[in-house]
Amino acid sequence: MDKTNLIRVAICLTYYHIGGLATTNIERLLKGSNMSVTNSKCFCPVCKKRIKCFFQLPIISYIICRGKCLECSSKIPVKSLVLEITVFAVMTVTSILFDFSPVGVLISFTAYEIIKIICIVINGKRENGFAKEYVISVLLMFIFFIMTEFMALLLYSIKS
Ligand SMILES: [Zn+2]
Repeated sequence: MDKTNLIRVAICLTYYHIGGLATTNIERLLKGSNMSVTNSKCFCPVCKKRIKCFFQLPIISYIICRGKCLECSSKIPVKSLVLEITVFAVMTVTSILFDFSPVGVLISFTAYEIIKIICIVINGKRENGFAKEYVISVLLMFIFFIMTEFMALLLYSIKS
């Protein structure tokens, strides 16, 4: 595989990771949540046990575990899976449409923030500390944005 394709795959893997991150970065801003977006640990919503590392692979772990918690076998909300897939698909397709250009990456992350706002409008915002958590969630994404933008710039410097 040549270098440019390697970078394209790396960008898609970042979007895949962000898809998984959406379950904390977006869902914890929603009504009924009280955990911080900075707490990266994933918990089963019913038995509160930690979800083990391997099973934190977005989308794939949901399919392996058939949407159930391995500890208490209660169902993990399907909306988490829908959110993971939506984020990954929207960001990846946007970047492909813009040929993985730096502008495309900017639009991908803008799309992510729009998805976040749509989720908040539909579900309502969390009762405690919404403003603070929202700002932190955007800052966290900004770090990923800089990282991905760097990959896109590298890709374009190799291509030209
Ligand atoms: Zn459980």
